[in-house]
Amino acid sequence: RSGRSAALRARMEERLLGARFRYLNQQLYTGSSQDAARLFRADPAAFHLYHRGFERQVRRWPERPVQRIVRYLRRRPASLVVADFGCGDCTLAASVKNQVHCFDLVPLSPRVTVCDMAKVPLAAESVDVAVFCLALMGTNLQEILGEANRVLRLGGTLMVAEVASRFEDTCAFLKAMTQLGFRTVSKDLSSSYFYLLEFAKTGPARPGPAPGLRLRPCLYKRR
Ligand code: SAH
Repeated sequence: RSGRSAALRARMEERLLGARFRYLNQQLYTGSSQDAARLFRADPAAFHLYHRGFERQVRRWPERPVQRIVRYLRRRPASLVVADFGCGDCTLAASVKNQVHCFDLVPLSPRVTVCDMAKVPLAAESVDVAVFCLALMGTNLQEILGEANRVLRLGGTLMVAEVASRFEDTCAFLKAMTQLGFRTVSKDLSSSYFYLLEFAKTGPARPGPAPGLRLRPCLYKRR
């Protein structure tokens, strides 16, 4: 009897965690990066819960997008300086020889510099590669990508891995990226899970609206 009620309780707890994860996830995708920073500063436990849920989601995928970025960096000189926006558990930094600046809202690893990715403590034109791996969560995309443009040197690389279903109009998105000072170098749209986009910085971001720069929130279904 008590075994059965313990199992029931575990199942209820699991459901509750799932529901909280989905709620947090929705908040992150429907608010600005500043809202996300405020949310996790007020409730660091929420961040850890979010990460547990995130891990559970990506474990179902055939390949982790961050592994694609690792492979990409290993083909290029280890002397390139990297900035990982929304680094999570710092898998990227731990997997390559490059110097990697790791930014996230709460430190899952001692390597993390805690900050909002819309405002990172790096000098202008100081990095060779900027990475957003499943991290373009805030609604202020233009500001966030503008920050990546600021810290990248001219000709530097921007790598974006994002959930495929978030793209409403990939063409319009890529066009908007040109206004933000990024030329498309390659795009791998072959996975049904995530797209991998490589850009090169052509110059500073041009101000003004970039209407195509939109991504759908990535909402998870109850399972
Ligand atoms: N890049 C990692 C983690 C992806 S999860 C990987 O591929 O495994 C997305 C990460 O972005 C989370 O760790 C989340 O905390 C972080 N994030 C979301 N909004 C952020 C913000 N405004 N500033 C910094 N990090 C943010």
